[in-house]
Parts: sequence; structure tokens; C-alpha cells
Amino acid sequence: YFNPDTLAFVDGEFVKADQAQVSSYAQSLHYGYAVFEGIRSYATPAGTQIFKAKEHYERLQYSCKSVGLPLSYSIEEMTEITYRLLELNNLSDAYIRPLVYAGTPNMTLKHASTSNLMIAVWDWGKYLGDQCLRLSISPYQRPNPKAVPIEAKVSGHYVNSIIASSEARGRGFDEALLLDMNGFVAEGPGANFFFEKDGELFTAPPGSILRGITRNTIIDLAREAGIKVTEKFFTPDELQGATGAFFTGTAAEVIGITSIDDLVFSTPYQDTLGHVLAERYHALVTGQSVAHSQNLEVKA
Ligand code: PMP
Repeated sequence: YFNPDTLAFVDGEFVKADQAQVSSYAQSLHYGYAVFEGIRSYATPAGTQIFKAKEHYERLQYSCKSVGLPLSYSIEEMTEITYRLLELNNLSDAYIRPLVYAGTPNMTLKHASTSNLMIAVWDWGKYLGDQCLRLSISPYQRPNPKAVPIEAKVSGHYVNSIIASSEARGRGFDEALLLDMNGFVAEGPGANFFFEKDGELFTAPPGSILRGITRNTIIDLAREAGIKVTEKFFTPDELQGATGAFFTGTAAEVIGITSIDDLVFSTPYQDTLGHVLAERYHALVTGQSVAHSQNLEVKA
């Protein structure tokens, strides 16, 4: 993610990445008590553009509030710092990782009274690659939203993601698909899930998922193209008869899913709505989408 000369922003300064360090006694390290974002910038005809910077930094503020971490930077300040950081590192197409943490030595279980902000940037291809995925339903559930603020991007929540993803990979699959505490399909370890049936799209409603910014973008792009999108709770059984599925996320972008355990989707990914929307998404984020309000012609 970095070479020694990469610069990161830490508490008001641009420092070499290998000098961005934290105390072993930091409260965040012991309790997973930190929040973060995953953002991307793209080279566009109008120069480097951070996609939906405002939405991401708003969610960072929301995450901080949800867990009582102070954040002394405004959305505008963080956006400006990020553009500067990209420029200093000579990056256009980049992944951006802001992290708000309690770096002070503190072993209490109380809200932190101060926090640190670090922002890292690096060149990162699509997180889950380019090939369609074979998923497996995870034996791990998404965290109960009555136990933790699931709509906040809290570092500690990602222990659930790490163990679920690794467990699925350990059984030879590419990625996990997690259910919520009621047995409804929720999302992947780091991406939202959509499926297609009868030319329509379905995805889980907010409740046990992260409200993905890519998810919102895809819903908007689909509706603009005249595709019906329904947010509803559904069980794995309701996936029978689905023709396709895909994940959405800032890091993963839009990536097709070929199967979930024994269920193999009937339509080749190239012919699905997911594939069309992936192209529309790419055009939008790279500033090439002149036609993104026209209706789609889809084979699915
Ligand atoms: N769900 C989880 C658990 C995630 O970590 C992510 C990635 N941030 C997403 C969904 C997708 O969110 P976004 O589209 O905002 O990146």
C-alpha cells in the first residue's frame, strides 16, 4: 500500500508513510474503537475527481458521532486535504482511506475525548478483482444492529468481515455472503448485494447493512435507466430463480456473482443488468457518462 516515500496525512501534517505510527497503548488498537472510510478518486477529463467525497465524509462524521469519537475537521477541510494528498503522491486513480482513531494511551471503556485523523492514499485495483465471484452463505451473521451501530463504519465491525471472508475462502469460495440475525440476506464482508429476477433488481433494505454509497449510486443509475429496484428483506430461498447477482462497493466497484453455494445463476454475467450497470458506473465515476439518463437496452 505504500513505499517509504508515500505521504500520508496524520494530524495536520503530511508525513512519510513509514513514519505514521501509533502507540501500542492506543485505545483504538485494544478495542477496535476507530472509524474509517473507503473512497476512490478517478482520472476524469476534468482532472482528478474524488467520487462522492461529500457523502463519504458525511458518513465519516456520522460514524464518529455513532461511537462518540470527536472529529475536529469539516467535510470541506477533509476533502481539501485529500486532494492535496493525492497531488503530493502524484495519484489520480486511487483508493483513499481516512481513519479516525483514539491514539492516546487509554485502557478505559469510555468515549475518547480526543481523536486523531490519518488519511492514506494508494493505487488499488478492484478489491475483489475482475472475475465473477463464487459466494457461499456464511455461518457468521452480520452484527446485530441492537448491539452495535451497524450503519457506522466502525473498525471493530470488520472482525466479523475478516472471519467471514476467510472462512468462505477456506472452503474454496471467493467470498462470503452474510445473513442478518433474522436469517435474511444482508451483505458481503465489504460490499452490498443485489440480485436480478424477471428484469428487476432486489437488495436488502437498511437495517443490518452498511448503507453503501455505491449501492445508492447503482439504485439511482438503475432507476434512471427504467429498471425497477426493490429494497426488501429476502431469505436465501428467494434467490432460487434469480438470473444474476452482483456486489457493489467503493473498493470492489460493481462485480458479478456467478453462484451462491449450489445455486448457479442462469444468465451469463455479460448479459445481466449488473454488467450494464457496472459499465454505467465506470462511465459515471470516470466522468464519461454523457448518456447516463437514457434508457438501457438489456438482454436480461
Ligand atoms: N458493506 C460493507 C460491510 C462495507 O464495508 C462496504 C464498503 N464500504 C459496503 C457495504 C459498500 O459501501 P460503499 O459502497 O459505501 O463503499
